[in-house]
Amino acid sequence: MVAQYEIRDKVLEYIEMLAMSPVKSLYPTAVAKYVNTPVKDIFPHLIDLVKVDELHLKWEIRCLNFDCHQTVCEVDTRNQLESEELSCPKCGHEFGLNERDIFPRFDLNPSYKEYIRRKKVEKTLIDKQALSLHL
Ligand SMILES: [Zn+2]
Repeated sequence: MVAQYEIRDKVLEYIEMLAMSPVKSLYPTAVAKYVNTPVKDIFPHLIDLVKVDELHLKWEIRCLNFDCHQTVCEVDTRNQLESEELSCPKCGHEFGLNERDIFPRFDLNPSYKEYIRRKKVEKTLIDKQALSLHL
């Protein structure tokens, strides 16, 4: 059981590392893995970062064909999703929209990335963890 303040701290640490890397977006599962806690525990913290504009939340619909898993479309809010038949541009698979095929993705706000970079440049050493982070 990880304490709430520790989760928040680790989430911020992770986001700052990403901000220093070329990575533009992240999935909650990757953060959960880093923090070593279930997605449901880190999700509210990510939402908090959306509120302060560090992250932008997008919803992706992925192809149901398990071998394909191509992102078929993305929207800003779940309300924009209409229950309709979708077809995958990659494999041509047609499927109806289902709750469980909608995945949240968090995009790093480019101005936030710049801000973090500026902030870090003032320190002489770049966090080595950011450089060794392969995503
Ligand atoms: Zn497909």
